[in-house]
Amino acid sequence: MQCQLSAHEDGEHFGLLDDVEYGTALWLRWRGTTAMALVVLADCPVVGPGADGEGCCLFAGHTEQHTWQDTMESTPRSK
Ligand SMILES: [Zn+2]
Ligand SMILES: [Zn+2]
Repeated sequence: MQCQLSAHEDGEHFGLLDDVEYGTALWLRWRGTTAMALVVLADCPVVGPGADGEGCCLFAGHTEQHTWQDTMESTPRSK
């Protein structure tokens, strides 16, 4: 299982297991090599800018960047 979030140093990791139904998905959440948990999370509702904005493949309330930000190289990190 590979973490779906952008490279990050700490915090929890999330790997997508399966789609549950429209708008939700089953994720495996873990921290380090222990403390794994299965969680059902709503899809991230944030869409990229532009008329044909790309949808985010992560879950609502995730940390780090949206997946569509990975492809936008000059995006400043807003923190
Ligand atoms: Zn991670
Ligand atoms: Zn997102």
